[in-house]
Amino acid sequence: MEGCFEKIPNCNLAQICADEIKKANNIVLLSGAGMSTNAGIPDFRGPNGIYRRQLGVNPERIFDIDYFLEDPSFFYKFHREFLQTLKNIKPTYAHKFFAALEKNGKLKGIITQNIDSLHQMAGSKNVMEIHGGIWKSFCIDCNKTWDYEESMKLVFSQEVPRCDRCGGIIKPDIVFFGEMVKHLEESQKLVKECDLLFVVGSSLVVTPAALLPRLARGKIIIVNKGETNKSYLPSNIPTLHVEQDIDEFFKAVNYHIGLDFE
Ligand SMILES: [Zn+2]
Repeated sequence: MEGCFEKIPNCNLAQICADEIKKANNIVLLSGAGMSTNAGIPDFRGPNGIYRRQLGVNPERIFDIDYFLEDPSFFYKFHREFLQTLKNIKPTYAHKFFAALEKNGKLKGIITQNIDSLHQMAGSKNVMEIHGGIWKSFCIDCNKTWDYEESMKLVFSQEVPRCDRCGGIIKPDIVFFGEMVKHLEESQKLVKECDLLFVVGSSLVVTPAALLPRLARGKIIIVNKGETNKSYLPSNIPTLHVEQDIDEFFKAVNYHIGLDFE
């Protein structure tokens, strides 16, 4: 089977993708930062990614848990900027396309590496935020929690938000490097059970998310504008690689499917 799906020369990839969607009954999406770049959120490893910006400090440190505990102000400087960006963004065509696929019963779940909530904003319901999200914050000492609204007030009024009960540092429920990802078992189950796995906007570099496609038993369609690391992909599963703009590609796909949204 290897490569049979991959080496179709110059054919209409959108048409093939649409045909696979029509045949599938249990679609799952794994999405990464590239899914949100068209919405205006910088990714990490792309040409304009956060890792290429001059921050004066190694940008990997933003989500490094040891560095956060040592100096949380660096993370919060970045986080405030990120939260401001979120106020002005909207889900892209591709986000809405996958929300529509869930609504019509084809898509069973989304596993996302993103913390931008764009899938939920687009109307998706079953979203596994494996790197956590911005909905909840907690005190790293006494575990007191704050919801999104409450934590926003603290984030924008203090350089480093502190717990009013014990003075501990408040941390958003985002998974940092060196911390366990969330919803891993549920995500693995989704991938094992699906008959078509989309991997969209992920460079498949960060594990364990990058290891999830290995569990797939159906077909895999990878859509990413940039390079994708292929070393973790299963060799025995037909895999289609599409290197195109994500939104343009799914517009072309939907031309053949005709889902009504927007
Ligand atoms: Zn506390």
